Amino acid sequence: MKVTMSREIHLRRRPVGIPKEDDFELVEVPVPKPENGELLVRNIYMSVDPYMRGRMDEYESYVAPFQLGAVMSGGAVGQVVETKIESFNVGDYVLSDRGWREYFTTRGQSLLKIDPSIAPIQSFLGTFGMPGLTAYVGLLDIGKPKEGETVFVSAAAGAVGSVACQIAKIKGCRVVGSAGSQEKIDWLTGEVGVDAAFNYKEVGKLIPELKKHCPDGIDMYFENVGGEHLEAALQLMNNYGRLVMCGSISDYNVTKPPAGPRNLGYSVTKRLTLKGFIVSDHFDQLPQFYSDMRGWIEAGRMKSRETMHEGIKNAPKAFIGLFQGANIGKMLVKIGPDSAA
Ligand code: NDP
Repeated sequence: MKVTMSREIHLRRRPVGIPKEDDFELVEVPVPKPENGELLVRNIYMSVDPYMRGRMDEYESYVAPFQLGAVMSGGAVGQVVETKIESFNVGDYVLSDRGWREYFTTRGQSLLKIDPSIAPIQSFLGTFGMPGLTAYVGLLDIGKPKEGETVFVSAAAGAVGSVACQIAKIKGCRVVGSAGSQEKIDWLTGEVGVDAAFNYKEVGKLIPELKKHCPDGIDMYFENVGGEHLEAALQLMNNYGRLVMCGSISDYNVTKPPAGPRNLGYSVTKRLTLKGFIVSDHFDQLPQFYSDMRGWIEAGRMKSRETMHEGIKNAPKAFIGLFQGANIGKMLVKIGPDSAA
């Protein structure tokens, strides 16, 4: 039987603290030729996402842990290169959860065909994909913004944060973002169009800085970071404010449980609502999301950026970069050629 050789990334050991490149291993494996009812996909782009850090630990969460010595998984966009399934053609672009590898054979059940005429194929891993839907569901469904409200977004220049900022602007809110470099602040206040943004690494104390940009308090906090950001937001929330609990990346590499927030009592005195959500519970909103997102992009109201690494061997570096603030917009890895390009 003819085989295709594929390189893939295995988890060599469970990281302690911020992952290191040698926690991962590049391995070459044979991928069998597709049999009847199967097809062979070559990945072009793969996604690295903060939630993958949780899967590198031992404990059970809403997704199972990665296995040691085995290939990891995650979002990827690829192209069918050989098919023995009638409903797929060679050249079709597909979204899968089979990232961290160059090739895979599949029966095709969990593949989603994507239309490259709608948007660049890699944006189905970003603005048009899981991070975009996360921002959409979190901002609109959980946060329910009202015109004129003040919305604060942390990790605002990232994949989720930058979309959340722009949806809040579209809904007529005053939007304030925080991010970790001047280049990110310039992008947020320029192309993204937030009303104010600050570099949390430069400002010293967060609360006075946030107060300066939110003189009327905060009505909705889109939480991506946790820790001091959450404490600062709690202090400045208006009565009956909503906290959209999307993620807390500052906690993902801690080796001891984080101490805060130390001021959760504000949730009572200010009658706040804190609501967490997981995007995969909301895939039923995909059709409306695609339609709205397409309209916003066509109207020039949704800008996006990508930070691209090249080659599967650099996927661990790209992943680690998420915890160093190395990305503006969506962090991606290009791992294969696009035959149409
Ligand atoms: P991003 O594109 O925002 O990348 C991560 C960013 O987080 C970095 O660029 C960095 O930007 C910031 N960051 C990293 N470490 C810290 C830290 N210690 N303190 C403050 N900021 C930090 O990632 P995503 O958009 O994919 O994810 C954003 C958040 O959304 C994460 O918390 C993630 O877990 C969550 N999420 C939740 C989902 C859900 O279903 N609930 C689904 C998808 C994502 P900077 O330079 O600004 O520090």
